[in-house]
Formats: sequence, C-alpha cells, structure tokens
Amino acid sequence: MSQTLYDALIIGGGPGGSTTATFLARAGKRVLLLEKDTFPRFHIGESLLPYNYRIFEEMGVLPALESGGFMNKFGAQFHLGNGTRSLKLVFRNGRFTRESKAFQVERSRFDHILLQHARSCGADAREGWTVTSTANHGTHVSLQARCGNETAQFNGRFLIDASGRVNFTGNQEGLRTIHPHLRKLAIFGHFEGVKTDEGEKAGDIHIVRLENKWFWLIPLSPSRVSVGCVMDQSEFMQAKASPADVFESIWRSSTEMRERMRDARAVMPLQTTTDFSYYNRRLIGPRLLRVGDAAGFMDPIFSAGVYLAMYSGRLAANLVNEALTAGDDGAARFRVYEKRLFRAMEYYWEMVEHFYTNPFMDLFMQPRRKFSLPDAIVAILAGELEGGWRLSWRRRAFFWLVRLQGRRPLVPRLDLSESAAAAQRQAPVEVGSYASP
Ligand SMILES: Cc1cc2nc3c(=O)[nH]c(=O)nc-3n(C[C@H](O)[C@H](O)[C@H](O)COP(=O)(O)OP(=O)(O)OC[C@H]3O[C@@H](n4cnc5c(N)ncnc54)[C@H](O)[C@@H]3O)c2cc1C
Repeated sequence: MSQTLYDALIIGGGPGGSTTATFLARAGKRVLLLEKDTFPRFHIGESLLPYNYRIFEEMGVLPALESGGFMNKFGAQFHLGNGTRSLKLVFRNGRFTRESKAFQVERSRFDHILLQHARSCGADAREGWTVTSTANHGTHVSLQARCGNETAQFNGRFLIDASGRVNFTGNQEGLRTIHPHLRKLAIFGHFEGVKTDEGEKAGDIHIVRLENKWFWLIPLSPSRVSVGCVMDQSEFMQAKASPADVFESIWRSSTEMRERMRDARAVMPLQTTTDFSYYNRRLIGPRLLRVGDAAGFMDPIFSAGVYLAMYSGRLAANLVNEALTAGDDGAARFRVYEKRLFRAMEYYWEMVEHFYTNPFMDLFMQPRRKFSLPDAIVAILAGELEGGWRLSWRRRAFFWLVRLQGRRPLVPRLDLSESAAAAQRQAPVEVGSYASP
C-alpha cells in the first residue's frame, strides 16, 4: 500500500482525466492519475469545438497543441445525403460566438500531449495501471489497481472517475441509463482520397444526413480523413453483413457520399461501437465526481464529447480545490457540479434528439435570419454554455418553431430520400463568413 495520501485520485487519462489532473497539479495539489492503456493509442472522437480553445489556454497546453500540426477547423458543413442542400456554419464573425476555430485531432497524439502536459505540471500520471475497485472510508477514498503482476492500493482525499465509456463507478452503482430512442451503432475508420474542401474550409467537418442515418467526415491532415456512419443497431443486425460491406453499401446509396468517397481507400481496418448514448442518474457521490463520458455521453453528431469532458474536468478540479482549501468533504459544492453538468449535457441532448426528426432538419437546413436564431444555434454548437438569457430564449424559440413545423410547415418540408436527388441542387447557405471581419 502506498503511504502517500494524495489530494485526488483520477481513473483514466483521456481528455477528462488529463484536464482535471492538470488544473489540480497547477494549483499545487498531489494528484495520482492511473491509465490502463499505454499511450499513444487509437481513440474515437476527433473533431473538437472552438470553446475547447479557451480551456487549452487556461491549462497552458495551447503552444504544444499549436505546434502539433493539427488541422484548423473554422466551420461545420451539413449536407443532405441526396446532395440537394448544404449548410455551412462558420464560427468566425458569429454574433454570439466568442471563439472562432477548433482543431481536428488524431486522438492518439492529442491525448498523449494532454497526458504529458499533466505530468509536466506535476501530476503523477501512470500508464498501464488498471483500476479494479474503489472504496470510500469517510475521511478519504482508496482504489486498488493492477499493473502487470503488480497490485497496489492508493489513498486520496477525493476520487475523480474519468474512465470514459467504461463508466467505472457508474456501472458499479448501476446508474447507467441508455437512451431508449438512440440505440445506435457507429462504423468508422481512416481513409485517404476522400474529397473535402480546400483553403480555409479544408478543415471543416462534414456531416451528411441520410434519411435515418448520417456520416461524419473529419479531415485529420491534408490527405487523411476520418469517416464514420451512425445508424440504428437494428438496421445493422438485419443487414447480416460485415461492417465494411454495410458501410460501403450505405455510402454508395447516397449521392453526396458517392461524390466524396469515389476514390477513397481505407488506411486502417474499420471499427464499430454501440450504445454510446447514455447518462448516469447521479454524477457525484461521497468524495466522488464523475467527469466526461464517465458522467454520460450522447450521439456524437455535434462533436461535443471532448469539450464536455474538458469542461467538466476543469469544473471538477476547481471544486475539489475549493473543498481541499476549506477542509471539507465538498458535498455542497459537488451538488452544484452535478446541476451544472446536467444542464450542459441537456443542451446537447436536446439538439441530438431533434436532429433525428424531420421538422428539425427542415428548419436547421433552411435557416431564416429572423431574431438571429441561426447565430444562436451556431454559438451553442461552438460550445457556448454560458451565453445567458440572449442565447437561452433563442434556443427555446428555435425548438418551439421545430414543434410548430411538425404540425404546420413554416418552411418547405425537405425530401431526404434519394429519389429527390434528381431535383435541382440548391446553392449552399452560409451562416457566418469565412472572411475576416
Ligand atoms: C462514434 C463516436 C464518435 C465520436 N466523435 C466525437 C467527435 O468528433 N468529437 C468529440 O468531441 N467527441 C466525439 N466522441 C466522444 C468522445 O470520444 C468522448 O466524449 C471523449 O473521448 C471523452 O473523454 P473522456 O476523457 O471522458 O473519456 P476517454 O477519452 O474515453 O478516456 C477514458 C480513459 O480511461 C481509461 N480507463 C478506463 N477504465 C479504466 C480503468 N479501470 N483503469 C484505468 N484507466 C481506465 C481508458 O483507457 C481511457 O484512456 C465520439 C464518440 C463516439 C462513440
């Protein structure tokens, strides 16, 4: 048993764990982070949001990331699968958007940079250590961990569960609730030869919406693009074919995807993952905070996962720090944490749930400039969680209009079927502008 009483024990060295460790270590706290894998390792979740940038700056890791050669992402482009419509959301010059660019990252390198940074700030970050159990002892917490044949117990004042979708403590307590209507499956891999844009738009994420599924295309370098398809699990099961065959037959069924994937070659075996839309009913426990995916995750459509992991990691670190200074168990502060994180998660849950409905697509893809509603949606998609009343009323108004659109069309109803592909392609709509102000 280690004799050290750490201020915080952290399970997991993804963005959530590294962010929490960095903020605590920079505040002079004794932090132990245990990561079961050895970095660099592949991880999905490659498109970041502009509001990540601010957190990178506060962590002091921005220079390392800027010299890492990651693609700059200035916007998000949404296309209908039948090729009839495109919408380009540009973060720069947005009326409510305070950050204008993000990175597209290979997570193997990105996560490694964050973990090394946490270490350089003073955190004791150990790779190859798997946490096997945790316990609360009233005045402190402990965990058991294994590295090869070695086992050890570590003690700390607070426990941060940043174990990602392993959801270590949430599963132990039976807290995980899977979204009943989002039983999805993703098939994904890296490709060369995919058609994306050039110039400032070269780093834009492309989301291609088919009738009941969608693709992401994330440029990771000028030649390498991450492409993934999110579909109903039931549809995949019914296909009774390999992931590679299902993936190819779907992109071949879409006019927009055929144009982009015509010359594509996979540069890694395709992977699949399921049941990624869930949340834990409690995000806190005695001396315990759940951060990032260990709190919950929703469908990746709006690329908010890494941002929420880092947002919650920063908040968790600040509150643990305050509790350590006050010498208390943090219970009251942690309730504030749970409330704020649920609220942030709800922002994206609501967008995700509506994304799969036709009235949402009708209004989203045909934005009207009234009352700056599109600007508000762009700000939320950029990661603005603290926009106050001027954003929240616009968000409410937008979803009210979506409900109305379901009953009585305010804008023309879109035909997402491939049979509409023959109809004339509309000029792309741009919200925001790539040009500098
Ligand atoms: C299909 C798909 C596409 C996605 N696309 C995007 C995207 O484009 N943009 C985006 O922002 N997000 C995306 N995400 C979400 C993103 O992957 C996650 O939200 C993000 O990685 C969460 O970070 P985290 O630190 O909470 O967890 P993770 O990054 O998963 O890190 C958790 C770490 O904990 C470690 N660990 C687990 N159990 C233990 C244990 N017992 N002991 C020690 N270590 C342990 C794991 O090895 C892992 O390294 C996507 C997710 C899916 C499923």
